[in-house]
Amino acid sequence: MDIEEISKHFIHVYNRNIVFTKGEDVYLYDSQGSKYLDMGAGIAVCALGYSNEEYKQALKEQINKIIHTSNLYFNEPAIKAAGYITEATGLDRVFFTNSGTEAIEGAIKLARKYAYLKNKDSQGGIIAMEHSFHGRSMGALSVTGTKHYREPFEPLIGGVSFAEYNNLESVKALINSGTCALIMETLQGEGGIYPATEEFITGIRKLCDENGILLILDEIQCGMGRTGKMFTYQHYGVKPDILTTAKALGCGVPVGAFAASSEVADAMCPGDHGTTYGGNPLATAAVCKVFEIFKEKGILQHVNETAPYLREKLEALKNKHNKIIKDIRGMGLMLGMELAVPASHIVTEALKNKLILISAGSTIIRFVPPLVIEKEHIDTMYNILDGIFNKAYDVYKKLNN
Ligand SMILES: *Cc1c(COP(=O)(O)O)cnc(C)c1O
Repeated sequence: MDIEEISKHFIHVYNRNIVFTKGEDVYLYDSQGSKYLDMGAGIAVCALGYSNEEYKQALKEQINKIIHTSNLYFNEPAIKAAGYITEATGLDRVFFTNSGTEAIEGAIKLARKYAYLKNKDSQGGIIAMEHSFHGRSMGALSVTGTKHYREPFEPLIGGVSFAEYNNLESVKALINSGTCALIMETLQGEGGIYPATEEFITGIRKLCDENGILLILDEIQCGMGRTGKMFTYQHYGVKPDILTTAKALGCGVPVGAFAASSEVADAMCPGDHGTTYGGNPLATAAVCKVFEIFKEKGILQHVNETAPYLREKLEALKNKHNKIIKDIRGMGLMLGMELAVPASHIVTEALKNKLILISAGSTIIRFVPPLVIEKEHIDTMYNILDGIFNKAYDVYKKLNN
């Protein structure tokens, strides 16, 4: 296929040059039939890989019953899926969306409505984090901590200020009587794989409680088992007031959700929010099956067995190529490798070697494989990367001359 010709028909916001046609296990196949090992999982989406027959069967069955009705009525898969989410999160009520970004929009609206009911003159101030990523819509972009994503699209929504992640004092300094919510990823993804320290996250929970601020945790990327618990905040013994989830929630079918405690959720009343597609039977049938497979197949346990091995292998690469690899960090199967060379160079080389990697920022490679990955796949990845880093040293030398 002629990539230049294909590209003409798309608004150019991605640089891409492969057409994938098929997935199997933890591999993708391109239009030429080449097989790639996938360490990106469709950006942390395809947690079950590409060959889960039970998942595919559940979708086919749902298609035969009904794909869509609208939110003017209940549907059976959504009822069940809401139950799974409340059970897994310890939160009370759920709203289904079509994407992560929309879950963020809903979470922001809910926090603002809650503050408004308490005080009609509420200023709706929101504290967000530097290096955060919450999505591309005007609201989600407003709380995204990367200036060059925001700037061309200003004016965005007002009342947002940015604190430094893992710096409690910088958060304290921004709190005032107009602050209604604090939004953060429990483990920063897009911004470069930065986990929260225990001190930071428990301190944030305390600050929010003391000041009547709602804590919104964005687990769109780090949730759904990625770090070895269903949600990453469960490692820290804290609970958000509002949680956002998406990506692996449907394992490929576009679906997201935000969930909240009843006290907060009940600030919304009919007419306040809505969506045509959100939570439709097809999407929520996927959600149900994902939760069921996680339980049956012991996905969390598998993550907890496999993740230390991935980390060990990445650490081994770092020790061997310590001029190029500066840091390995993250949790579970969400790991980052910080480089002294541009990440894009390594990503491109990896693709040539039929290994799919994704970056997070200009010098960080992000490892977010399907959660069903096995040690043998990690060994394959190790060998490919080892070869690439052997050669990348020349690039490093050039950059430093
Ligand atoms: C991907 C992502 C989003 C946006 O989700 P979309 O489904 O792309 O709209 C928001 N927050 C985080 C942490 C993400 O990783």
